[in-house]
Amino acid sequence: MDMGIKGRNALVCAASKGLGKGCAMALAGEGVNLVITARGKEALEATAAEIRKAMGVRVIAVPGDITTPEGRAAALAACPQVDILVNNAGGPPPGDFRNWSREDWVKALDANMLTPIELIKATVDGMIARRFGRIVNITSGAVKLPIPELGLSNGARTGLTGFVAGLSRQTVQHNVTINGLLPGPFDTDRLRGNFIFNAQKLGKTVEELAKARAEGNPAKRFGTIEEFGAACAFLCSVHAGYITGQNLLMDGGHYPGTL
Ligand code: NAD
Repeated sequence: MDMGIKGRNALVCAASKGLGKGCAMALAGEGVNLVITARGKEALEATAAEIRKAMGVRVIAVPGDITTPEGRAAALAACPQVDILVNNAGGPPPGDFRNWSREDWVKALDANMLTPIELIKATVDGMIARRFGRIVNITSGAVKLPIPELGLSNGARTGLTGFVAGLSRQTVQHNVTINGLLPGPFDTDRLRGNFIFNAQKLGKTVEELAKARAEGNPAKRFGTIEEFGAACAFLCSVHAGYITGQNLLMDGGHYPGTL
C-alpha cells in the first residue's frame, strides 16, 4: 500500500535506536524526509547515515536533549515545516514512589508529558494551516495496564493521553490527527534496563527474566522495532485521516481485556 506521504517532512524525536529509530526507518521507507534527534551525537549520526543509505531520503541529525527548551528549539529550527511529528523520549526510571521527590516527578512530567505537548504546540497550527498533519506519541502499554515499578511513567503518560484525547478531536477537521502508540515489550535497550532493575531485586539473571517475560506473552516473543515503525507509518499515512485520539496497543496480546 502506498502511504501517500512521499516528500513530507517528519520530526522524529529520540530516534538513534529503539522504537524511535523503527519509526524513522519506516517513514523514510515511505519517502519521508527526516529530522531525527537523540542525546548521543555519535549514535545519532550513525543512524542518520544508515537511514540515508538504505532509503535515499534527506536525514538531518540534531543532537540534543529533547526534554529541554534548547533541545526542542534546535530540532524545530532544523525542520521548519513539520508535517509529521513523532514524540518520543527516554522513559522515567523504575522505583518505589516513597523514594521519589517532587523533582523526580517534575522530570518525568517534563520528559513524557510536557515535552510532547510543547512540540505539538509549536507545530500543530502550521499543520492546520496546510491541512495535513500527523502526530504520533510513543507512550506505553502502561497507559492501559499500569506497571507497578514504573509509577512515574504510568502517571506522566496518562496525563499526556488525557490531554491529547481532548485536542485530537479539535484538530481532525483540519486533517490533523493525534494518536498514541502504546508499546508493550519490545526488544530494545530500555526493556533490557527494566530487566536489569528487576533482576537485582529478584536475585535472577537478566536472561532468566527476559525468557520468562517472552514466554508469558501470548505471542511468545517480544515485538520488533520494524513492527512498531510500520504501525507508526500507517498512522502517519493519508489513509489514517479518520483515526484520531486513539491509543493503539502493540503488546502481542498481553493486555487481557476485551476492549
Ligand atoms: P531505547 O533506550 O532503545 O531508545 C531510546 C532512544 O531515545 C535513544 O535513541 C536515546 O538516545 C533517545 N533519548 C532518550 N532520552 C532522550 C532525550 N531526553 N532527548 C533525546 N533523545 C533521547 O528505548 P525504547 O525502548 O525505544 O523506548 C522508547 C520509549 O518507549 C521510552 O519512553 C520507553 O520508556 C517507552 N517504552 C518502551 C517499551 C519497550 O518495551 N521497549 C515499552 C513501553 C514503553
